[in-house]
Amino acid sequence: MSQPEVTVYEVGPRDGLQAEATPVPLEAKLRYIELLGQAGLRAIEATSLVRPDAIPQLADADELLSRLSRRPGVRYPVLVPNERGLERAVTADVDAICLFTAATESYAQHNIRMSVAESLAAFAPVAAEARRRGWWIRGYVSAAFGCPYEGEVDAGAVVRVAEALLALGVDELAISDTVGVAAPADVGRVMTALAGAGIVVDTLAFHFHDTRGTGLANVLAAMERGARTFDAAAGGTGGSPYAPGAAGNLATEDLVYLLDRQGVRTDVSLDAVLAASRFISEQLGKEPSSKVGRAGPWP
Ligand code: MG
Repeated sequence: MSQPEVTVYEVGPRDGLQAEATPVPLEAKLRYIELLGQAGLRAIEATSLVRPDAIPQLADADELLSRLSRRPGVRYPVLVPNERGLERAVTADVDAICLFTAATESYAQHNIRMSVAESLAAFAPVAAEARRRGWWIRGYVSAAFGCPYEGEVDAGAVVRVAEALLALGVDELAISDTVGVAAPADVGRVMTALAGAGIVVDTLAFHFHDTRGTGLANVLAAMERGARTFDAAAGGTGGSPYAPGAAGNLATEDLVYLLDRQGVRTDVSLDAVLAASRFISEQLGKEPSSKVGRAGPWP
């Protein structure tokens, strides 16, 4: 099967659910992931192997992974914060992991309780072992366009963290607008800096939030510069605690609708994504935050 023109990287089960207060039963999470697989998504971030008490919503990660039915050709990355998480990943027989750090010191300290340098040092043995096992590795650079503590973020800081993650052997960088503040000009600024450092666009994924309504515009801006992988969460689950009441992750259905109408092949079924979106929204007891989830597809 040939590669789609754009890869939609689904983050709903991990990044989406971890920010939702309503507990979702394990069975429903497994169903959500299954529906996402049925929709044709080829990368579905499944859960996070952080300490169970750190993110109660994902405290069932080990059991979820033991019961997950993996579809052929689908990658199910799992967030691994440290060597303990790596041991759990080995037990769970995963073959794709994510490492999570930030472009700013304050965001790293608040979110993972390490400095950026400490996080990179903690990841080194994790990444080395993952590479030895032939696993795929994604590195998150969060707060890449704005920081809730430091405000504007210098593109040079994004480049330095991106380079450090690549030096650890990550396969993909997720350049993330954690607070949902970026506009297309910011995307251009950061992509120019990354390209200037010799980081090839094929290694980049972009994680945009739709907090301020700029998510899709940012996708198009990044595509114009060659980006081909975008994160989204079916149902628009998740949300930044720094933007109360506002939408969080870009919704998969909004992204797929846009790409379909633009004639960009994703191999993802919009109708099937909407089914997954409705399912998880019912579980959470709320309406999907997406535009397409509310308005429906067309024609
Ligand atoms: Mg997010």
